[in-house]
Amino acid sequence: MMDSEKLISQLHGLKAVFDDKESELTALDREIGDGDHGVNMKRGFSAVAEKVTEGSTQEILKQTGMTLMSSIGGASGPLYGFSFVKMSEVAEDTIDSENLATILEVFAKTVGEKGKVSGGEKTMFDVISKTADLLREKGSLDLKSLQALADDTEDMVATKGRAAYFKENSKGTIDPGAQSAVYVIQALGEGVQNG
Ligand code: ADP
Ligand code: MG
Repeated sequence: MMDSEKLISQLHGLKAVFDDKESELTALDREIGDGDHGVNMKRGFSAVAEKVTEGSTQEILKQTGMTLMSSIGGASGPLYGFSFVKMSEVAEDTIDSENLATILEVFAKTVGEKGKVSGGEKTMFDVISKTADLLREKGSLDLKSLQALADDTEDMVATKGRAAYFKENSKGTIDPGAQSAVYVIQALGEGVQNG
């Protein structure tokens, strides 16, 4: 179970995660994009740690979304940002495993609609859209299973976003947004598990 305090601590924890993973995400985005995804995620969650400090779970998720939208440049900012705003609308006061599964369904639906994307197009959607089922089947979201979803994007050909310009050459690199989604969703899953 994840109450508002635990949710804040998990979201603030992502600042350190993205400090740590900045170079990994930068390297991936250099291969099939413009190399800014590491900086984008780091800037976004630094702003969240600074600005989102109190409120109900719903308010925290909404504030996180607004903060991500205004602090992340690039395609991923509006996608993550708007998704957190929409996720706030289905969050309960205390988030349990079933509520998190519902939240992750909304995450996937929002990215799908806003990004006009479906499965197999080598984006963050390929990770996000599989996590509600994963959580329901396994009862938790372990890093290994989440990473396997991101790893699956390696052999895909990108048809959305900047990576689509690389066509066949986009094969052989994990999608940067799929990789960052692993960390975001891991933090939410961990909050529910250890809250
Ligand atoms: P930009 O591509 O503008 O430089 P980022 O580098 O921050 O923005 O984010 C790139 C990531 O955004 C991609 O790896 C992909 O996962 C995601 N992305 C881009 N376009 C879309 C889309 N239309 N639908 C879903 N995800 C997308
Ligand atoms: Mg980029």
